[in-house]
Amino acid sequence: MIKRSFIGLSKPRLAYGSLEDTPSLKQIPTSKEVTLLADCPFDKKNLLFKKKAAVKTGQRLLLYKESDEYVVSSVTGEVSSISSYTGDFGRSYTAIAIEVAGDEEIDDEFNSAASGSKDASLETVKNYLAFAPGNPPVKLFSDKDKPINTIVVCCVDSDLLITTNQYIVKSDIDAIKNGISILKTVTGVNDIIMVASQSQMHELSATGEKVNQVNDTYPSALPHLIMKNVLGKMVPAGKTPEDIGVCFISAEAVASIGNAFKSGQIPVTKIFTLVKKDGSKSLVSARIGTPASDIFKAFNITLNENDRIIFGGPMTGSSVYSEDHPVQPDTDAIIVQDKDDIPVISDYPCTNCGDCIRVCPANIQINLLVRFLEAGQYEAAADQYDLYSCIECGLCSYVCVSEMPIFQYIRAAKYELGRANTAEATNG
Ligand code: SF4
Ligand code: SF4
Repeated sequence: MIKRSFIGLSKPRLAYGSLEDTPSLKQIPTSKEVTLLADCPFDKKNLLFKKKAAVKTGQRLLLYKESDEYVVSSVTGEVSSISSYTGDFGRSYTAIAIEVAGDEEIDDEFNSAASGSKDASLETVKNYLAFAPGNPPVKLFSDKDKPINTIVVCCVDSDLLITTNQYIVKSDIDAIKNGISILKTVTGVNDIIMVASQSQMHELSATGEKVNQVNDTYPSALPHLIMKNVLGKMVPAGKTPEDIGVCFISAEAVASIGNAFKSGQIPVTKIFTLVKKDGSKSLVSARIGTPASDIFKAFNITLNENDRIIFGGPMTGSSVYSEDHPVQPDTDAIIVQDKDDIPVISDYPCTNCGDCIRVCPANIQINLLVRFLEAGQYEAAADQYDLYSCIECGLCSYVCVSEMPIFQYIRAAKYELGRANTAEATNG
């Protein structure tokens, strides 16, 4: 995440980005090679396909024996490598690189399975659309342990500077309408709530669904705050909205579902905001898997040593350490930051100024919490200082006068505790 010096927005009001009336979208040509990241560790022994396998655009690639993990190829070509990739906090992914061939062929397996939106089924959505732009949360729809009663469609964007969902609402309202109708059919959930900014209310009235307004100040569009302020439900600490029957999905993901069933093809192009070193923004469309370096090339951006690349928005995004990091189904922004604009992480101690506590929407005593996080005492942080009440808005890091990386500490702590709990459950 980024400190205030870069965003140039000042306390107390951080307004979400808004789309121009006639936004232009720059399309990035298809790269020579794309890389698809699957959210599961590399397991060479159980792989279901090999290097040199031919793939078509829109083809589902099931990864491992006895697993339902898959990616969807965004290009036609040949698998050039399958390897392990390490992400944030040491999380393991499987990386599938595909060398692009000259002539594009569209895979028709989804079309046969879908056979038009009349026969849309939850199985088809689950088996083919998890990797579509916007990352439809398909597993949540079929989790029998956590039945979903309400679906919230976010037409606003959750982080600053991002305009993906706003663009989809403006440019593809019919796909959203179709996606909602399919969602109702396949999930049986009729309680669909759209959340939007004031400027989107008119466009969204065309969907015929309930539209609720969220205000344009960060972090109002984060799920926990929508739950509280729009649905009037509190999510208990450590729980998620789906734990209490509410599933969030972005307008882009809904449009992906609508477009997939309408065209018989799985969409493979992601829309995101590129923020350049001078702070200027462009709306970009690129195949999923496109390396960031190709996007920089298209915009004549030169990276120098120690410049920083962030995937995601300025408050909640994460640094990546390679120019070749690929665009993923949930990449809503890529930010390039000049080395001179990156604040040095300070080693100043907490001064107890209280600024973080004043901005925290979860009312956490962050000045106390941070001491335990710095010392690596994660269990105490969770048990005594409300770690799990944090809704991950990043505001505490943004305002901290000592420039402490509080939000990074919080994410690392939650990740480590999650890993420890999983290991404990697995080992009985
Ligand atoms: S990221 Fe910081 S400010 Fe935001 S909810 Fe968590 S502790 Fe509070
Ligand atoms: S803003 Fe930073 S320095 Fe101030 S109380 Fe919070 S952690 Fe301490």
